[in-house]
Amino acid sequence: MSPKKYASVDRSRCASCGECTRVCPKGAINVFYGCFAAVNIENCIGCGKCARACPAGCIKVNSFR
Ligand code: SF4
Ligand code: SF4
Repeated sequence: MSPKKYASVDRSRCASCGECTRVCPKGAINVFYGCFAAVNIENCIGCGKCARACPAGCIKVNSFR
């Protein structure tokens, strides 16, 4: 079985545009306090749609080891 993947956000570069929240099929990423996005890794399936949609390029997909 391949390791589970999950997305993470570089909050310092997030523009809080909300694009990632619109494309996530699992509702696993939200913008908090209007200032940064964060991923709920319990729900994230690591599909990478948020990372591809992010105009700031501040989301990456990681693998658990
Ligand atoms: S990797 Fe996929 S499931 Fe995880 S937060 Fe991004 S869009 Fe949602
Ligand atoms: S798409 Fe990128 S810049 Fe926009 S809220 Fe999500 S993480 Fe932040």
